[in-house]
Amino acid sequence: MSKTQERGTLTMRTRLAAAGRNPAEQFGFVNTPVYRGSTVLFPTYADLMARTGRFSYGTHGTPTTQSLESAWSELAGAETTVLTPTGLAAITVALLSAVKAGDHILVADTVYRPTRTFCNTVLKRLGVETTYYDPMIGGAVADLARPNTSVLFLEAPGSQSFEVPDLPALIAVARDKGLCSILDNTWATPLFYPPHAAGVDIAVEAGTKYLSGHSDLLLGLTSANAEWAGRLRATFDAFAICAGPEDVFLGLRGLRTLDLRLREAERQGLAMAHWLAARPEVAKVLHPAFASCPGHEFWKRDFLGSSGLFSIILKPCPETALAAFLDGLALFGMGYSWGGYESLVIPFDCASYRSATRWAPGGPALRFSIGLEDAGDLQADLDAGFARLRQASE
Ligand SMILES: *Cc1c(COP(=O)(O)O)cnc(C)c1O
Repeated sequence: MSKTQERGTLTMRTRLAAAGRNPAEQFGFVNTPVYRGSTVLFPTYADLMARTGRFSYGTHGTPTTQSLESAWSELAGAETTVLTPTGLAAITVALLSAVKAGDHILVADTVYRPTRTFCNTVLKRLGVETTYYDPMIGGAVADLARPNTSVLFLEAPGSQSFEVPDLPALIAVARDKGLCSILDNTWATPLFYPPHAAGVDIAVEAGTKYLSGHSDLLLGLTSANAEWAGRLRATFDAFAICAGPEDVFLGLRGLRTLDLRLREAERQGLAMAHWLAARPEVAKVLHPAFASCPGHEFWKRDFLGSSGLFSIILKPCPETALAAFLDGLALFGMGYSWGGYESLVIPFDCASYRSATRWAPGGPALRFSIGLEDAGDLQADLDAGFARLRQASE
């Protein structure tokens, strides 16, 4: 039995400890260090001409990048993985691997907003037309496909609004129609939704979020199944948008504790979401593990867990009251990105960047990323915030 076959029977938690490293190649040291480098020397003319050896040039990979790529491929169930400097670059390299001029693509209306910007600007300029679809229509997305449709782009749950689509139904349409299915899987990670086992062709992870876990890193990972691995690798090589060695090393470091941190994020996220759901100021909790979240039944059927990112809708209140709530928070920071050890909150309104669906929540919307602080302390911080909100509403 090969080493990979043996590992196949191990749990994810155990595999995270071993994946992508080979101490024997590193003089016995446990971790693959940061290899910095452009030039790789070939010992002879014959080696140079035949490009023998595992490495040929810095942009094509180093032992550091190969460690994270192979570990991620193992976890995601992929044939190959490429590492990009940001999560958004992981998305754009995925899309550019699958489209050509004259194509039409189907993109979920609830995608990460910069994905939409890329489709509406660069892809449009290159002659690729985008139709946004309501992700909750499931199999009916087939009716939107045209003879020149090449991609079905998915994101689950929806960015900011957290609706969970019927992924198996959507993936089946992509299969039937011969479309490349691309999934932005950043929220769940392969630990809570193994993308390629589910039939996704290309999966994207913003490593900036949970893989980093410390808000000190920008990184993207794009993985592909056997059918799409060659095209993904060729497109990545053509752009040479490789991630920096220090960032890849930090991604590898984050990988070792990803299971532990994600389970804690889930536990903390649920504790905070339940506490918020019971507050009189809160109209609705948009968390996939809550029945109040559209597509909750699909989350329950298809996902192995929930992470620490979710939204709430407040009952209507004046903007000054919302500002009083947010401005006085001591433990929650206000800022973009998420998945770090520290809790964050942002107000949002997706009405202006949705076209196939209508965002009309009936009150101010807030997105929370719950960190590793004590849940009781976080609740006390929000409790004081709600007192300020009520006072400013009077
Ligand atoms: C943050 C994020 C990205 C982009 O990651 P960056 O590293 O910030 O470019 C992509 N998709 C989702 C769902 C994200 O949350």
